[in-house]
Amino acid sequence: MADFLGKKAFVIGGSRGIGAAIVRRLASEGASVRFTWAGSRIKAEDLARESGAEAVQADATDRSAILAATRDAGPIDIFVFNAGICIAGDPLTLDPDDVDRMIDINIRAAWHCSVEAARSMPDGGRIILIGSANANRVPFKGLAAYSMTKSALQSMVRGLARDFGERHITVNVIQPGPTDTDMNPADGPEAGLMHSVMAIKEHGSADDVAAYVSFLAGQSARGITGAMQTIDGGWSA
Ligand code: NDP
Repeated sequence: MADFLGKKAFVIGGSRGIGAAIVRRLASEGASVRFTWAGSRIKAEDLARESGAEAVQADATDRSAILAATRDAGPIDIFVFNAGICIAGDPLTLDPDDVDRMIDINIRAAWHCSVEAARSMPDGGRIILIGSANANRVPFKGLAAYSMTKSALQSMVRGLARDFGERHITVNVIQPGPTDTDMNPADGPEAGLMHSVMAIKEHGSADDVAAYVSFLAGQSARGITGAMQTIDGGWSA
């Protein structure tokens, strides 16, 4: 296990699912963790009590709110942008406002918060975005807009890795495949279809994604940057 004693971690979107697993993992490894929640107040308060992390409300569609939250959390050693929504369906009938909201959360907020975190980040810091294996492969109809938002993160980390490399700040995107959370339950109606394109035909766990975050945040990952870290049971294979 890594030792993050003395490190400050900030997780955007930490109240549930993968984000909550990341909060628990980093806190259990000694980091001082702060995380944001948007709609899940009770879950956020329970998680804060259980993990010792600090919860703050900030909706990722509100740029000034999340920038202020990121600024207040600094200087951040480990920054994780996890917040995300998935709007899927026929592109001809999707509500344009829903698509714009997804772009606001999945791309715009990821960009603005990563840059804000980098401003005061100490040398050797970590910026980790949670993308999706859908950035590599879109095997089904209805996922174009969501996948587009996650592909944007690939170029974001490639470029920011170069921008901040002199400060030894690493910037990576973790790309989960189907992972058992509220967004994508392992027993949901689409699970069988998803498993049909995977090498290992089961959902992954949020804890496994959190373990990957811990590895990337640790010292032995200091040379890994500008890279796509895919953990998808072979979805992209
Ligand atoms: P969940 O739906 O279980 O949790 C989503 C998290 O994002 C919650 O903490 C939620 O906070 C937060 N969030 C949603 N909207 C906003 C907002 N407007 N502002 C701030 N935070 C917000 O999803 P997962 O845990 O499954 O997903 C986490 C990330 O992993 C996402 O980026 C997702 O795209 C990605 N991913 C998930 C996969 C899966 O199969 N589960 C596969 C590939 C990628 P709150 O409840 O407080 O609003």
